Amino acid sequence: MNPVVEKIESLRKVLHEHNHRYYILDQPTISDFEFDQLLEELQQLEAQYPQYHDPNSPTQRVGGGVTKSFETLPHRFPMYSLSNTYSKEELELWEERIRKVLGEETDIAYSCELKFDGVSISLTYENGELVQALTRGDGSQGDAITANVKTINTIPLKLKGDYPPFFEIRGEIILPWEGFNKMNEERAAKGEPLYMNPRNTASGSLKLQDSSLVAKRPLNCFLYALAGENLPVSGQFKALEKARSWGFKVPDSAKLVSSIDAVFEFIQEWDEKRKSLPYEIDGIVIKVNRLDQQEELGFTAKAPRWAMAYKYQAEQVATLLKGVQYQVGRTGAVTPVAQLEPVVISGTTVKRASLHNADQIEKLDLRLGDRVYVEKGGEIIPKITAVDTSNRGLEEAKIHFITHCPECGSLLEREAGEAQHYCKNETECPPQKIGKIQLFIGRKAMDIEGLGGETVALLYQEGLLNSIADLYRLQPDQILPLERMADKSVSNLIEGIEKSKNKPFAKVLFGLGIRFVGETVAKKLSKQFKSMSALQQASLEELIATDDIGERIAKSIVAFFSNPKNQLLISELKANGLQLEEVEEEGLSHAAFEGKRFVVSGVFDNYTREELKKEIETLGGIIASSVSAKTDYLVAGNGMGPSKKAKAEGLGIPILSEVEYNSLKL
Ligand code: AMP
Ligand code: ZN
Repeated sequence: MNPVVEKIESLRKVLHEHNHRYYILDQPTISDFEFDQLLEELQQLEAQYPQYHDPNSPTQRVGGGVTKSFETLPHRFPMYSLSNTYSKEELELWEERIRKVLGEETDIAYSCELKFDGVSISLTYENGELVQALTRGDGSQGDAITANVKTINTIPLKLKGDYPPFFEIRGEIILPWEGFNKMNEERAAKGEPLYMNPRNTASGSLKLQDSSLVAKRPLNCFLYALAGENLPVSGQFKALEKARSWGFKVPDSAKLVSSIDAVFEFIQEWDEKRKSLPYEIDGIVIKVNRLDQQEELGFTAKAPRWAMAYKYQAEQVATLLKGVQYQVGRTGAVTPVAQLEPVVISGTTVKRASLHNADQIEKLDLRLGDRVYVEKGGEIIPKITAVDTSNRGLEEAKIHFITHCPECGSLLEREAGEAQHYCKNETECPPQKIGKIQLFIGRKAMDIEGLGGETVALLYQEGLLNSIADLYRLQPDQILPLERMADKSVSNLIEGIEKSKNKPFAKVLFGLGIRFVGETVAKKLSKQFKSMSALQQASLEELIATDDIGERIAKSIVAFFSNPKNQLLISELKANGLQLEEVEEEGLSHAAFEGKRFVVSGVFDNYTREELKKEIETLGGIIASSVSAKTDYLVAGNGMGPSKKAKAEGLGIPILSEVEYNSLKL
């Protein structure tokens, strides 16, 4: 064999093996550093010899491919849902039904498994290589998210042992608590809204278009079922063991039992143990073990008759209500938060619970000293679901919603039809001021690099940042003495602020945080009115006459601009050179691109596919999704689809490599 091929192959093999030891067995035999070095060596060889590209190389874990829209494909074997129950009685009835079919005296063994709470996935392996990953979708067809799934380290790209040449395996992609909490800490630090729960976050992660972003999410995958014909096993439990031996992550919590009583014991045991699991489960799945018995039992329209999910009730714990605090958000909305005697629910200590709004407090007729039931459902913020009526607090201690803002003292208002109370002192109320600056610097607005939500709060506390306009007055020597600031971070921050002066008008407008003016509305307004001054002068009627702008938005805009403090802010922004007018985009186009049709395919070294497409469009080119006689260029990256290539060759359309593409711009 060619020595280069040999080297590449051996590196891939070694890296697959170490990946397995690290992520599946939890028994690494080399250090992370050594692993990274081997990986880098392989990356370099693959870059040097693209002809030996392998879609399942360990280097593919880092992602990079961008999927604009996920293809919907049929499942070879349908993905069913599970019937479920919350009670022992129903489980007993289920067993009776099974016995009617299989015979009263038959031995029935059950595979008892945890019901992982994540996103179900069906993986197809051909000759030991992962070739496809489909979401459940509607059960008969799902979305192909293969590139994203390949970045999940616990999913083997190549199998080991005596796997069948073709089979499908089903599992659950989950986000363990640790990774979920870390992601939320990062969001909190940036002042961004928190993720609700691990399952939704996992699901959202899998639908990201850029697989290199998915690679950064700490996702995991547990496998729980084989699907296919002529599987090399006769029972579910054996299937789990086999899957494990081929390199899949199959938690060893599953247990094979031979009576329904033992099933109950398993349920009971995990009712306690689940609270200290590092990931979330929402119940137990009980499956008739033998495949021939499963076959005899068959399926209903939606679910197998041979399996049942037992769901645990959301855990409710009683504790003492010690007080209510009121939080004021960026928009001035006031949220009541219950202060509780600390109590452990689902493994975490809970001290606070959301009370949503005044109506909720009224509905529960809450009093200080009440014993309340707290539940931690799918959401991260626990809620109070009920009051223990045999244990009421004193009538005199009834909780009345506050009338004035706890932060600035202004009178709170509640508009007809709204559940929330608001502090309307938006220009002076501290959390609203900080929140406004955080919104302004945030990703969707000015996207100021080098500045995060926490730093904004710090600068506010230090008296250096009182409004958006102050950003443009910050001096390096004021910031440098602050905690966690170094020369480098200060110059990044100042540079980031400087760059924001080039951000388009629509972003500035959105960044002002005018109530009801989201990103889309801001774009509409900037298109329609073209400048801040025109918008400032617009009447209520003119605003309402604009597409998609209703009375509620219009009123909010007029109110914003009639506030003298906001008028001052805008003149300051203007003086600092921010873009307060809509600029028609032009002048960037390039003769070699103007009006030419490009098809982009494959993975590139120096661009994501999206970046490349964007550049082509900016230079005046047109992006098409498929090759036709009208196509001018096919820009081909690594691993381009062979059919596109053949078609382009057939039509005599020039195929550009990344390097050739770049020289087009010269
Ligand atoms: P449901 O969504 O409530 O109908 O429950 C069915 C889903 O439970 C399946 O689609 C799987 O995604 C998930 N699930 C989690 N753990 C298991 C398991 N051990 N066996 C079967 N399904 C499971
Ligand atoms: Zn206030």
